[in-house]
Amino acid sequence: MKALVLKEKNKLAILDLSFDEKVGPDDVRIKIHTVGICGSDVHYYTHGRIGDFIVKEPMVLGHEASGTVIETGKNVTSLKVGDRVCMEPGIPDLRSRATMEGMYNLDPGVIFWATPPYHGCLRETVVHPAMFTFKLPDNVSFGEGAMVEPLSVGLQAAKKARIKPGDVALVSGCGTIGILAGLAAMAGGCSKVIITDVIQPKLDIAAGYGMTPVNIKTQNLQETVNKVTSGWGVNVVFEASGNEAAIAGVFQSLCPGGCVVFIGMPVNPVPVDIVAAQAKEARIETVFRYANVYPRGVALMASGKIDVKPLITDKYKFADAIKAFDYAVKPQPRTVKTVIEM
Ligand SMILES: [Zn+2]
Repeated sequence: MKALVLKEKNKLAILDLSFDEKVGPDDVRIKIHTVGICGSDVHYYTHGRIGDFIVKEPMVLGHEASGTVIETGKNVTSLKVGDRVCMEPGIPDLRSRATMEGMYNLDPGVIFWATPPYHGCLRETVVHPAMFTFKLPDNVSFGEGAMVEPLSVGLQAAKKARIKPGDVALVSGCGTIGILAGLAAMAGGCSKVIITDVIQPKLDIAAGYGMTPVNIKTQNLQETVNKVTSGWGVNVVFEASGNEAAIAGVFQSLCPGGCVVFIGMPVNPVPVDIVAAQAKEARIETVFRYANVYPRGVALMASGKIDVKPLITDKYKFADAIKAFDYAVKPQPRTVKTVIEM
C-alpha cells in the first residue's frame, strides 16, 4: 500500500510498502480517510528526532487520524464494517502497572504511531485495537475525527486543572493545542478564557470563539488579567507555548491557590520561579498525551459544545502529502491545522 515515509531527516517519499498486519480477534482494520499534520510530525521531518526519540529507520508519519472500519476481529462487538471512526494513536500494554493504575498514557511500553521505531498512519489502511477505536456520530466529520487527537491533549489539561464552574483561565500560546485547551476549558466550565500570542491572525481565530485575545507584542497581559479578574488573578494558567520567557513569568497572572498546567514542551530545560509559585501555593500539573478522554472529545463535538471545524484551515490530497508537509514547515500565520485526505 502507499504510505508517506520519512526516510531520514528532510527526506520524505510516498512509497509502496507492505505491512504484515493481521486482524487479531480484538482488532479492526481501518481504511484511513483524514490525517492531521502535527507539530511532532513536522519536527521529525525537519530534525529527525524529538529528544531521545530518533528516526533511525524509515518511518511512516502521522498519528491524528479518522477512517472507516473495513474488517473486524471475531471478538469485536463495539464496531462493525462501515463504521466511521477515529483512533487513539497510543496502544499501551494492558497488563502494565501504569495501565492498571489508570495512567496508560505513561506506560513505558506504549506503542505510539509515528514515534520511532513505530510507523504512523499516513497510509491506506491500519490495524488497530477496537478498544482504542471510537465510532464517530453522523454529525461529526472525518476532519473533526482527526482533530479528536489534539483536542484530547486540551481535554487532559482541563481535567488536570480540575476546573470549577466560573473559573477564569489564561492560555499562553495560541497554536492548535493552545486554542483547543481554551475550548476544553470553556467546555469544562470556565466563564472566561484569556489567550496570548504574538501572531494576530491566530488570536483572531481564538477571539471568534469568544476568548479574550492578548497580543503580548503590543498589549499588556497583566492589565487584561487585572481587568477581567478584578485584580485577583486567573484560576488556571494553561502553558501551551513552551516558550522560556512565558514559563519564567507563568505564576504572575495566577490567583492565590491557582493551578498551572504545563502543556508546551520547551526544547531545552528552562528556569522556573519556585518562590513565585510558593508565594501563591500554586498547584502545578503536567500533561503527557492523554488517557480516557477520547470518547469525551467525540461527545463534545457531537453535542456542538466544541466546534473544531474553523481550525481545519488547509487540506491536501495524499498525492500532495510532501507538499503538505513542506507547507506545514512554514505555514501562513492564519493556518491552524493542515490535514491530508487519503
Ligand atoms: Zn498530535
